[in-house]
Amino acid sequence: MKVICFDLDDTLYKEIDYLKSAYQEICERIHSVTSIENRLACEDLVEAYYRGENVFEYVNRSCHIDLPIETYLNWYRLHEPQLKLSEAVESVLSFFQEKQWIIGLITDGRSITQRNKIKALSLSRFIDNSNILISEEFGSEKPNLKNYLYFQEKYPLSSYYYIGDNPKKDFITPNQLGWTTIGLIDDGRNIHKQNVSYPKENAPSYWIAEIQEVKQIIR
Ligand SMILES: [Mg+2]
Repeated sequence: MKVICFDLDDTLYKEIDYLKSAYQEICERIHSVTSIENRLACEDLVEAYYRGENVFEYVNRSCHIDLPIETYLNWYRLHEPQLKLSEAVESVLSFFQEKQWIIGLITDGRSITQRNKIKALSLSRFIDNSNILISEEFGSEKPNLKNYLYFQEKYPLSSYYYIGDNPKKDFITPNQLGWTTIGLIDDGRNIHKQNVSYPKENAPSYWIAEIQEVKQIIR
């Protein structure tokens, strides 16, 4: 039996798409509470983000309003995002599903935020709910041993794989446990940059440029 666990953000979909979706929502909410002159475009928020500005302060300033940052954070974290799996990710998940291998998810974040993403991406087509592990629900974050041992204990005597993007926390523990680890190289759109220095035990067994390459590694 093979057990193949994925990271969520910047692995199964690009987190920048979540950010854009949240900014869209924020713009719509601002439009509904302010005058028509305060026409704020989602692209302006994305540009402010890339300039390294505090986007919520930027919105307050450009619309001459003074909403608490907490309000924006709630809108951001609680919104129901518009997200879609890429064809490449769909084909990889379908491939593993056809083989009847176990697909899991180990992701860090708030329950509601991650659940909303999972729902938007319809991941329940591929991943059983008992194999979806979200740090806030589970009680510990990567690289905690528990988050990975969960799958070893649930599916003993299997081959285990972890596919992620963040060398700071994704691979170190599964490397120690003898899992095969696969890192998806940032195509330039990732929220967390990979060009940071890290010890070699943090590196994945394989770096791949395209998600479909996992089909050559896991076979
Ligand atoms: Mg990630």
